[in-house]
Amino acid sequence: MSKVPIEITCIGYKNEKTIENALYFLNNLQDSFNYSIISHEKFENYSKKTYITSEVFQLFNEILPKLKGFHPYVIGVIMNQLNGKEFTNLFGSMEEINNQITGKAITTLYEIKSIFKKIPIEIYLIFEFLSFSIRFICQSPLIHDEIYNCIFDRKISKEEIVRDIKLGKICDTCFKIVSNKLDNDQLYALRQIINEISFITNSKEPESFFLKQLNFIKNKTEKARSKVNQHENEGSKYIDLDQIHLILQEFSTLNTKIDRNYISIQLDIFCQKPSELSKYLKRIIKSNWTNADKDNWAKVIMDILENWKVLDDPRWQKVCKAIIDIAGELFIGDKVADFVSEGIIRLINYVKSQF
Ligand SMILES: [Zn+2]
Repeated sequence: MSKVPIEITCIGYKNEKTIENALYFLNNLQDSFNYSIISHEKFENYSKKTYITSEVFQLFNEILPKLKGFHPYVIGVIMNQLNGKEFTNLFGSMEEINNQITGKAITTLYEIKSIFKKIPIEIYLIFEFLSFSIRFICQSPLIHDEIYNCIFDRKISKEEIVRDIKLGKICDTCFKIVSNKLDNDQLYALRQIINEISFITNSKEPESFFLKQLNFIKNKTEKARSKVNQHENEGSKYIDLDQIHLILQEFSTLNTKIDRNYISIQLDIFCQKPSELSKYLKRIIKSNWTNADKDNWAKVIMDILENWKVLDDPRWQKVCKAIIDIAGELFIGDKVADFVSEGIIRLINYVKSQF
């Protein structure tokens, strides 16, 4: 799976710690988009009291073609007010030529501190970067005037953005467009990040909670790196990038997913494709999680299934069938059976007893 490259550039100033933090968070909690910073003197020196969208895009079109490499999606971050053709004091804007999204966008940090108050600015940046990424892929601005309490509602008053992040919802119309254009991993990335920032925004102390999460991610990545170094010291002369990626991925994503919310979202997405669901279940079962982690994970799945059963939710049967499908395979041959923990056996027995 190749990652979609999304580049961020500071306009009117040099660098910004909050942007670095936001990118670190995004890059380590999903695998579909790769966020990085690009800089250019002309971007940094373009300082204005008020920015006009068309003028900023003109600057993009002047500078980007001169840069080496491939820059399909670029988001500029400014500090002052942003005005468009129709609306003024915007959060952001995407360039469109003849109703075509060009892959260039701008967002501003203007007034964000006073709107977000105790919620870290990084949450806003994460939200904006993700939202633009999704819209780049969908080739659609997505924003609608109807109020559905959807993250893509047009915000009439700027304060509404906090409510939408807290709710973390996508309306049916947007979901239809998004799920037609995004692949499963990209959809998962979207849900994962929206869920995460909504969770932080709803917490009692979002600032310290965000920092804790960030440190947690950083520690895990460090551990993964030292695991890679350890492999190198153990005599293997060469470790390919895929292997490093796999180890990093394991630390940065798998371990955070023994969480009811994440698991529920995963099951939900894969219900559309039961074969993918079987793959996901197998991947966790065969992972090198400890038995305690696997037991815990199986227990959460059982809880979710029990809940769906009570609500007579059709997803209940789909997931049960997927589990039964893989159960047969898991007990054939000792090798696979080695990966099965007591909790997983309990889960399989529970599922079997339901039919
Ligand atoms: Zn919507």
